[in-house]
Amino acid sequence: MELQAVEKSQAASSINNASECAKKIENEGFPKDFPATTKFANSEFPFVIIRLDRIIQNLSWIARSSRAMTILNNFMQRSAVPATTFDLLLVRRGETDEVKRQRNGIIKTMRVYLNGKIVDSRDAVVSVFDHGFLYGDGIYETMRVYDGVVFRLDQHIRRLFRSASLIGLSIPLDVDRLRIAIYETLIANALRKAYIRLTVSRGRGPIGLDPSLCAEPTVVIVAQELKEYPGSLYKNGIHLIISETRRNSKEAIDPHIKSLNFLNNILAKIEAKKKGAYEAIMLNVNGHLAEGTISNIFFYKDNMLCTPSAECGILDGITRGVVIELARTEGMRVREGKFTVKDIYAAGEVFLTNTTMEVMPVSNIDDRRYTVGSVSKLLRKLYREEVNAYISDVKAEGPSLWGENQ
Ligand code: PMP
Repeated sequence: MELQAVEKSQAASSINNASECAKKIENEGFPKDFPATTKFANSEFPFVIIRLDRIIQNLSWIARSSRAMTILNNFMQRSAVPATTFDLLLVRRGETDEVKRQRNGIIKTMRVYLNGKIVDSRDAVVSVFDHGFLYGDGIYETMRVYDGVVFRLDQHIRRLFRSASLIGLSIPLDVDRLRIAIYETLIANALRKAYIRLTVSRGRGPIGLDPSLCAEPTVVIVAQELKEYPGSLYKNGIHLIISETRRNSKEAIDPHIKSLNFLNNILAKIEAKKKGAYEAIMLNVNGHLAEGTISNIFFYKDNMLCTPSAECGILDGITRGVVIELARTEGMRVREGKFTVKDIYAAGEVFLTNTTMEVMPVSNIDDRRYTVGSVSKLLRKLYREEVNAYISDVKAEGPSLWGENQ
């Protein structure tokens, strides 16, 4: 299978050797007329240089389209990837079995995005003076990838920028570059079903709280194979406790900030584990239900789907938003409000939501028992349908870069 529509610029044709060309580009940047893709058929192995930045600028679909990812993944299945930076993905094709084995080794080692470069996980190290490490000063997002497509990517990016702005942190990449970096990390790990963690910390600086001590934020993207929650949990439900640990008040640390400072939630999780429970529900300082340590909470009572409102001091989960939309579309009555432990104890069904667990039914809260009922089953099914529809839409979006027969 040959690449089609591969151009070759004058600048590229004057350098016959592909690795020489790659080195030159890495040192000096792309020559002015360097095209989006360049093939070097006369090298020992055929090489293709793909300018991710040009593809994005010209077609602006790669980050949203799994089509581009499929193409790049197809390359990778046959190719070593000797260099990949923001601007350059160098793919070597036609390698010997020996090289292929090495390449398999490369791909099996996790590769991590760190400050503009894809590095081996062993080299993905951050300074002990990073304020993320010293003070939990930073933010993050967790995303889920289905069949090579990041679900609701733009919403996650928007929330990341909101968290950044709430802590006065300037992310050193714009939205397009972040999208590229996320997909680049997925491609580098040849992943289609994955969990992604994107972290931006304040960066390295002398000891001291003042954020202006840190010149450059640290940006890390980790993509790993998604381990699904066991089916038995969805079938039987999980056990929760009402935690003694109160959720941080909005006036102290706004839970809208998806912050690296997670001790509040960790203390509640420790409590849950001690009591043999899977997750803890935290109340806010006024005694109203807030959220789980990594999840939002819903319950069904008196023909109404209820969930704590944003004023209760919660992270407005992306899954929570989707579930509310789906329930309303389905004609359910939904109430976002202030609720107490008594309200949830009296409910017929309870479930949790988050990006990786989706819709997870609850079997117990403390000594109360709940059935895994029709509402949580229906919303879990509708959520999956919504995911599938989203993935198909994204896949249908982009034009083919190299024609249908690549
Ligand atoms: N609340 C908290 C505290 C969380 O950490 C998470 C997980 N990100 C959620 C709620 C659920 O958010 P989402 O649906 O966006 O994953």
